[in-house]
Amino acid sequence: MSARSATVAYIGLGSNLNDPLRHVCLALRALRKLPHSTLLGHSSLYRSNPLGPVEQPDYINAVAALETRLGPRQLLASLQGLEQQQGRVRGPVRWGPRILDLDILLYGDLELYEPGLIIPHPGLSQRNFVLYPLSEIRPDLVIPGHGPLSALIDSVPATGLIRLDHSCVSEHLAK
Ligand code: ATP
Ligand code: CA
Ligand code: CA
Repeated sequence: MSARSATVAYIGLGSNLNDPLRHVCLALRALRKLPHSTLLGHSSLYRSNPLGPVEQPDYINAVAALETRLGPRQLLASLQGLEQQQGRVRGPVRWGPRILDLDILLYGDLELYEPGLIIPHPGLSQRNFVLYPLSEIRPDLVIPGHGPLSALIDSVPATGLIRLDHSCVSEHLAK
């Protein structure tokens, strides 16, 4: 890997299948071990209502702050590798239920619009299950192309979003 300076990326985690709390906790543990990266912290876990056209269970969501020397494409490939390791099968329907979804929300102050990779993540500014966890860890954040996170929060209600009192301790000890 070519040398690259460290950048703080924010990762959105989501799961709504096969014990989602466990899958989000396992993904946080996997992020802690990601090569060329340091997990700086993460939000609480949240329960949220599903998006999109498909009838499916509620999601468990969280946001993590990751300092990384991986480039954006390398980071995306690593996150997709983690999704697969935890058993995600990519079905034909977008926004269908899944064991694990890892999205790059932000990568430093990068703005990228390429086939297969858009940063900031295009859903970020409208999704309460991303904005509220993000503001828990970085309330002062300014989103490239969107402005202060606090202003976005003011325009997106927390409808259906519940912050959970779950620390992932048992999942970290198990295995
Ligand atoms: P959404 O992107 O609206 O949250 P999703 O997470 O369900 O939907 P996926 O099926 O997980 O969508 O991913 C579809 C494609 O989105 C991926 O193959 C990836 O190339 C692309 N993608 C574009 N921008 C990003 C990003 N910032 N983070 C993760 N994937 C991205
Ligand atoms: Ca997603
Ligand atoms: Ca995704």
